[in-house]
Amino acid sequence: VFVVFEGGEGAGKSTQVTRLAALLQAEGRDVVVTREPGATDVGARIRRLVLDKSEAPSPRAEALLYAADRAHHVATVVRPALARGAVVISDRYVDSSLAYQGAGRTLPVAEISWLSSWATGGLKPDLVVLLDVDPGVGLNRVDSRGEGTDRLESESRAFHDRVRYAFLDLAAADPKRYLVLDAARPADEITATVSGRLAGLLGA
Ligand code: C5P
Repeated sequence: VFVVFEGGEGAGKSTQVTRLAALLQAEGRDVVVTREPGATDVGARIRRLVLDKSEAPSPRAEALLYAADRAHHVATVVRPALARGAVVISDRYVDSSLAYQGAGRTLPVAEISWLSSWATGGLKPDLVVLLDVDPGVGLNRVDSRGEGTDRLESESRAFHDRVRYAFLDLAAADPKRYLVLDAARPADEITATVSGRLAGLLGA
C-alpha cells in the first residue's frame, strides 16, 4: 500500500508521516518512510541542486530535476518496498510537481503530469493525504522553526496560493483517492483520521 502526504510549507507533513509510521510499526507492519526530493543518494544531490539559492534552476530544468529524483526514488525505493508487501509512506510525490512546477511556476500542468507519469512508470498512490494550510499560517510555522526561510520568502504569496488551490483541485477531482484534512487540527486527531481511512486499504 502506497500512502502519500501532500501539502504546502508548514502543513505538518513530516510530523504526520512519523506518527503514522510509528502507529503502523506498533501493529507489526513493514513500513518504509520516504520523501521527495532527496530520499536516495542521487536524490540528495538533486535536492541540493534544485534548492540551491545561489543559482535557482530555470522552471523547466527544475521540473526535470524533480522528475529525475522521482524516477530514481520510485525505481530504487518505492517499487521494491511495495513488491515485498511493505506500506510505503512518502512525504510528497507527483502532486507536489503538479502544484509547484505546474500551478506555482505556471508550466502546463498536462505536461508535468505526462512527465511525472513517464518518470514513475505510472505508479499511483493508493491514498493521498492532503494537509491543507493557509500559506500565511504555514509559512509562519516554518519561519518559527528557522527553516529555509530565504527560499520560502523568495516565492510570492500568490505562488503559494496557486500551489494550495492546485492541491485542493487535484483532491476534488478524485475524492476516492484523497483525504483532505485541515492542517490546523490537533496532530493526534489528524493521525487518527488517517489511520481510520487506511484501515480499509490495509484490510485491517
Ligand atoms: O517538503 P520539503 O520541505 O522537503 O520540500 C522542500 C522544498 O521543495 C519546499 O520549499 C517545497 O516547496 C519545494 N518543492 C517544490 N516542488 C516539488 C517538491 C518540493 O518546489 N515538487
